[in-house]
Order: sequence, then C-alpha cells, then structure tokens
Amino acid sequence: MLDTATLINLLAQPQKIVITTHHKPDGDAMGSSLGLYNYLIQLGHHARVITPTDYPEFLEWMPGNGDVIIYTEQKEKADALIADAEIIFCLDFNALGRINEMGIKVGESSAYKVMIDHHLEPEDFDDYRYWNINACATAQLVYTFIVEVLNNKQLVNQDVATCLYTGIMTDSASFRLPNTTSSVHRIAADLIDAGAVNWRIHELVYNSSSESRLRFLGHCLVNRLEVLNEYNTAIITVNKDDLQKYNVITGDTEGIVNYALSISNVHLAALIVERSDKVKLSLRSKGEFPANEICKKYFSGGGHRNAAGGYSTGSLEEVVNQFKLILPKYKNLLIQ
Ligand code: 5GP
Ligand code: MN
Repeated sequence: MLDTATLINLLAQPQKIVITTHHKPDGDAMGSSLGLYNYLIQLGHHARVITPTDYPEFLEWMPGNGDVIIYTEQKEKADALIADAEIIFCLDFNALGRINEMGIKVGESSAYKVMIDHHLEPEDFDDYRYWNINACATAQLVYTFIVEVLNNKQLVNQDVATCLYTGIMTDSASFRLPNTTSSVHRIAADLIDAGAVNWRIHELVYNSSSESRLRFLGHCLVNRLEVLNEYNTAIITVNKDDLQKYNVITGDTEGIVNYALSISNVHLAALIVERSDKVKLSLRSKGEFPANEICKKYFSGGGHRNAAGGYSTGSLEEVVNQFKLILPKYKNLLIQ
C-alpha cells in the first residue's frame, strides 16, 4: 500500500511510469491517460501510455498520441516497459480483466499500481486508489488529482487541458448526463482557460465521421432499429455482414446507441453487435434505470447506471432473445 505523502514524494523524482487504460479505449480512457502523460513528462518522468488494443481514429489527434504503444501491436516492447516500471497508473478501469492479456503482466509487475477510476466495485489489485463513482469522467479525477492532491495546477498546460477536456466532454455525453455538476463545468472552464479550445475539440471528435460511417448509421436507424413500446426500450441489432458491408472500423459504432435513446419514451436502449469472437452489448438508459445491473447480471459486464456494456458468446439471435426476455423483470422501472 502507498499513502498519499509517499506517492507525492515518489512523483517528486523522475520515475519509470506506465499509464494504461481499458481495452477499446474511449474518449475518457485516452483523454485521462494522455492528460496524465502530458503532465508527468513536464516533471521529467519516463512515462508511456500503453493501451491494450487500438482505439478510434477520432481520438488519434490528441497531444502525445504519437508516443502511445498499442499492446497488441508491440507486445515485447510493452512487456519490457511494464516489467521495468516503478509506477503503473491504471486509468478508467478497476478490474484487470478490462485490459485483456496485459492484465497478467500488470498483475505480475512489482510496480506500485495507482488506480484512478469512477466505475463501481473495484477489484483489489492496486496500491493507491483515487476513486469516485460520482465523477463524470476519469479525466475529471485526473484533474483534481493534479490540482488538489499533487498541488500542481500550474502544470495543467494546453496539452494536459486539451486531453482532459476531451475525456470530460465524451464521458459526460457532451455535458449532458446527470453527473455533469456545476463543479464539472467549473473544471471545464479552468481547462478552457488553460488552453483547451473547446469548439475545436468538439469538431475533432464529433464532426469527423467517414461517409461510410454515416451511411452505416442510416442503415442502423432504418433497418436495424426495433422499438418495444411496451417496455420503453429500443434495440439496434448489427450483424457481421452489416459490419463488412459498411467497412465498419473501431469507433464507428460509438454513439449509435444514443440515437435509440433519443426517442422520447425510450428509457433503455441497446446496441447489440455481432463481433468476430463474441456478441457485444452497449446499453444506455435515462434517469434511475440501472443499465449496469443488466450488464453485470446477464452479460459478464458492468459500467455506470446510464452507460454500461457487456458481452456474450451466444449467437446474435440468442443474445437478442435473451435481452428481450430480461425486460419483463424490469417492466416496473421501465414504464414509470
Ligand atoms: P460502451 O457501451 O461504450 O462499450 O461502454 C459503456 C460503459 O460500460 C463504459 O463506462 C465501460 O467502461 C463499461 N463497459 C463496457 N463494456 C464493459 C465490460 O465488458 N465490462 C465492464 N465491467 N464494463 C464495461
Ligand atoms: Mn470513463
């Protein structure tokens, strides 16, 4: 275990540091990791971000992106860095299974593990925990960690601010979810003052679709959307052929589930995608409905109340049917 004073002392001298985050990183995973990276390198630390897998193109513009190592593409180099690290920051996840095969190497490493996260029910693999489920994004926690714990607001430069703003913007669904408190807006304002160009970040993340991605979205909405009015639930089901026909790449399915949730009476929306090795579910809900409970109980997953995910090894049809059979159990909550 590490106490705060020891961690502060450690970080006062250059250390060998690995920063990692969950597989198929989203805006918060990359934003919080690169935000912390851009902070640490100013202090002379030897820091590298290692992601378990690749991530969407619309996140590849962030400062420091060129130094990111993708584990599946550079295993030997990544393993050496993990084995040699003195501190490993684990950002936006709290169970080693979320970093795939990298989890074994991180678990074996003698480095101090520092978890910064906002997901429920952390596993016990860390030496220091900066964890708050009320945070709208891990990037918000990285900001308060730098400013309040490390007392280093002056090192929140334009690069740090740009990455952290991206994390907060994407995980709060553009400052829309209930956990987007006044403090979150104050932090966003501080980040803009520190150099984050908010309108440009919105452009880079949200107005950067390929034509095929937009046509894929159209296909999902016209041909793959099913609305179950009895349960105030909408499902978008995507099969392997759809993915192939529209050249769907990492990140292209991101956000599509929100269109299903945008129907006024819909309280629960699911995007169910037939991937090569498994069927992936993305759930989104409004208000009090616990999307994470369904993912955890039935689909080996988890997440937040209003945004959760999981997977199944059943066929696409089986998974869709299983999902539909779960809905009656939640009817009372869904028809409120
Ligand atoms: P998405 O639907 O965008 O993949 O994920 C939404 C949220 O659910 C994210 O906060 C993510 O961390 C969480 N999540 C997605 N898939 C899984 C999973 O397989 N396991 C767990 N524990 N959480 C997941
Ligand atoms: Mn997050």
